[in-house]
Amino acid sequence: MPIPLRSALEALRSPIARHANDRSALRASHVANTPGARASLPPGLSLTWLGTAGFRFEYQGYTLLIDPYLSRPSLLATLSRGPLAVDHQRLESLVPAADAILVGHTHFDHALDVPALARTHGCRVYGSRSLSTLMAAHGLASQAVEVACARPFELGPFTVTFVESVHSKMVGGIWVAAGGELTCDHVDQLRGSAYRCGQVFGIHVAVAGASFYHQGSADLIDEKVEHRGVDFLLAGIAGRGFTRDYARRILGRLEPRFVIAQHFDDFFRPIDAPMGFSLNVNFGGFLDEVRAVSSDFAVCALDPMQRWSR
Ligand SMILES: [Zn+2]
Repeated sequence: MPIPLRSALEALRSPIARHANDRSALRASHVANTPGARASLPPGLSLTWLGTAGFRFEYQGYTLLIDPYLSRPSLLATLSRGPLAVDHQRLESLVPAADAILVGHTHFDHALDVPALARTHGCRVYGSRSLSTLMAAHGLASQAVEVACARPFELGPFTVTFVESVHSKMVGGIWVAAGGELTCDHVDQLRGSAYRCGQVFGIHVAVAGASFYHQGSADLIDEKVEHRGVDFLLAGIAGRGFTRDYARRILGRLEPRFVIAQHFDDFFRPIDAPMGFSLNVNFGGFLDEVRAVSSDFAVCALDPMQRWSR
């Protein structure tokens, strides 16, 4: 039986045992227990996991964000008919700086906070046409940049390349939830389901001799992933249950030295509440899936909101 299927069945059979297994797997794979990971960061660079698929890179006074999502409205709020609310107070305290924001796709758990952060910090945001539409709805069209794939560009000390990708499927493995383009042009229409996926990207970031690859959703277009030997794969693992051979395919392309798992936390809880796991994300199962590819890959996880540096 394929490992993801077996893991999913185990999770259904015993959610409490699964949860306990995920907790102990997470503790064991904490980045502090991963030899060589910290020493592989360039001196002066710090990396912060912001929860979900969000990351902050800081280097030489430049702050680069990917998919920052700190407002984290409740499940009830995301299902309601009203527009999703941004928690401005939280953004102010948790994101004091941003020089550029990269967005892998425009589901709310990646894009909700982006216009507010761009407005506060006056920075540009980089991503899809859907992202530009979202920014225009907020009156911020001039700060949106629609990217071309596979063309590296410079942002301060960082070199960034967007890579054409796809979103993991959900129901029955054939359907992407809230797929298609984001089309709203009024902010009062932006309820949770209005944040359509838009074009999906993997994002390669090179800085100070180190390389990172951000995979915000657990699927890929194999032949579009041309980078090899990256230092850190920031691997989104939610929703991979319907992605054929996710671990084998992405590890085989990128050949990362370290895999930092992300997008496994329950993002309906506030970022400063004790962390829970996304429904059925099966963190422990991901470690098994990676081990089944090769024991050479070190999987680790960061604590949310903790600056990690050498
Ligand atoms: Zn998504």
